[in-house]
Amino acid sequence: MKTDSHQVDFNKPISFTDDICADGICCFMSIPRNQSHLGMWKAFLKRRNASYGVKLLYTGTQAKDIVYNPCRCLEFYLKEVTTESGAALRVILRCGIFTKGRRPYTCKAFPDKTDSFMHDVPAPCVYNEYLAHENYVQLKYTHVFRLFYAIKDDRRLLGMIFPGYTAEETREKLNQCKEVVKISAVWNEKPSEYFLLEVPKTKTVLYISDAHPKIEGVKHAYDLWQGHIEGWLEKHYGSKWQANLADAMNKENTVKRIK
Ligand code: SF4
Ligand code: SF4
Repeated sequence: MKTDSHQVDFNKPISFTDDICADGICCFMSIPRNQSHLGMWKAFLKRRNASYGVKLLYTGTQAKDIVYNPCRCLEFYLKEVTTESGAALRVILRCGIFTKGRRPYTCKAFPDKTDSFMHDVPAPCVYNEYLAHENYVQLKYTHVFRLFYAIKDDRRLLGMIFPGYTAEETREKLNQCKEVVKISAVWNEKPSEYFLLEVPKTKTVLYISDAHPKIEGVKHAYDLWQGHIEGWLEKHYGSKWQANLADAMNKENTVKRIK
């Protein structure tokens, strides 16, 4: 991680997972310009809790951090669960204007819904890429990345995200959670403290269909989304993009043969 804006203690193990919708990453990273999918009412839509201080942190060992703000309609909730190693926190993301049956409660066919902003995007969604094999991610992004929810240590926000708990109790829970790290950051505003929770790699919450299949590898993704992937490769590798693509495909074949 290359950054001069905050310090992170990665000595603490961070992992997260599970059965409830913990994705919805497209509601941070893929929101269309001006949120055009929201239609004519967007100016009147009620602001939901995520916009009060939840962000998505994209980070990689040799990459500069990128911070994404959520759609103003995104709801973010914490839920406490019991695991074999004790109590843990999970994240639930919901679209505040689409109904629970549509989005993003475990995605629910979101990329296939004709009125969703993912429907006409000739590209895999970011959560699909997040779950993809390192070989694909390394080729397309030039580095493997990690994603974290960053929750601002802000009384107003903390009082809204953990049903049944006050802001003080939520802060206490986050401080005690072994999967959480706390950082200081300056992200286009005054310095703040944030709690970081890693976005889980939970295959059960990835919606898949013919148009939005799980990425099996470089060749599979390239065959499906050629134009999109070529654009990224040209941006990263210039005239050498075809050679890099061929290298990645060869590597993939070698791994398959060894298996
Ligand atoms: S799996 Fe669904 S909700 Fe998650 S990022 Fe992809 S399209 Fe969005
Ligand atoms: S699906 Fe809902 S939360 Fe996500 S970007 Fe659209 S309006 Fe916002």
